[in-house]
Amino acid sequence: MKALHRQLLAWYDREKRDLPWRRSRDPYQIWISEIMLQQTRVETVLPYFARFLSNFPTVKDLAAADTDKLLNLWAGLGYYSRARNLKAAAEDMVARFDGEVPRNHESLRSLKGIGPYTAAAIASIAFDQAHPAIDGNLERVFARLLALRTNPKTEGRAAVTTFGQRLVDLGRAGDVNQAVMDLSAKVCVPREPRCLACPIQSHCLAFREGSQNEIPVKKEKKAPIELKAAGLIVLAEGELLLARRPQGEWLAGMWDLPWWVETAESKTLLLDSAQEFARSEQKRTITKHKITFQVRAFALGRKPKAQILEQLPAPAAEFRWVKLSDLHGVNLPRPSERALEQALSKQAN
Ligand code: SF4
Repeated sequence: MKALHRQLLAWYDREKRDLPWRRSRDPYQIWISEIMLQQTRVETVLPYFARFLSNFPTVKDLAAADTDKLLNLWAGLGYYSRARNLKAAAEDMVARFDGEVPRNHESLRSLKGIGPYTAAAIASIAFDQAHPAIDGNLERVFARLLALRTNPKTEGRAAVTTFGQRLVDLGRAGDVNQAVMDLSAKVCVPREPRCLACPIQSHCLAFREGSQNEIPVKKEKKAPIELKAAGLIVLAEGELLLARRPQGEWLAGMWDLPWWVETAESKTLLLDSAQEFARSEQKRTITKHKITFQVRAFALGRKPKAQILEQLPAPAAEFRWVKLSDLHGVNLPRPSERALEQALSKQAN
């Protein structure tokens, strides 16, 4: 274990990726980077990270942030609940921890959006505490090192955690976590790991038995849940109708075209079908759901806007009309943008 620890860190010291959040030990920056990196590639995060910090340089700035501005800065990164949770956690830090990121693993865990992995990453990287930060990438590397024949997410979880704990207990916990993370991204990749270039190959049982491509053992993938949704483009006097996504629903708090998942109880749309000028189909995947959107576009001329709202079946927290020329200030989700582009080009023809 000691030799593995030494060789892994020697490789990391030589090869580590130069990333902006690694140039600082500021717990705030480390927290923001860890949240942005969830389900998101490093290259995508880089420009967002810089913009975010220049807008909200401290916990207190984030706690006081305007939600619309925050969501706008987040647009394109996906999983918007992360942005809302960041703000809620920052408010909590101001209320309970004097505006600082807490040092303690348990306190970190008590904050919104910080699960066991993120708490361990912050505690180890920012405060050098011996917590292994085990996500899917570390699971893969550890499962291979151990030639684990059980699923590291379930039955094999304890073996992987114990292994990680032993490794960070040997010192430089934050660097150990980041070294395995880098190794998982550059060498011990999911398919066809580059074992010949691996700095810890001599400790790897899977390599020794030639089973690295069969490990980690996975559980069978469940088929996505298919849903149908209806979306609306409503134009009246050069203005487009937007709806704020209701709390508790997907993309909560975001401005989007009005849309709703269709169920047997869905109410009927009362808009005049003679005024419909385009229809398109868009696909979206949100978490485990594959959603097919039927987007219908209506041009409703001078009809009173209040009357139009009464005819919509879509629930929304709020509605708002936006001039088409002002739309660049609103970041619509990409499938909505596509539907709008298609409808407007049809209308122009
Ligand atoms: S030898 Fe191969 S399978 Fe083992 S840790 Fe290195 S890259 Fe991964």
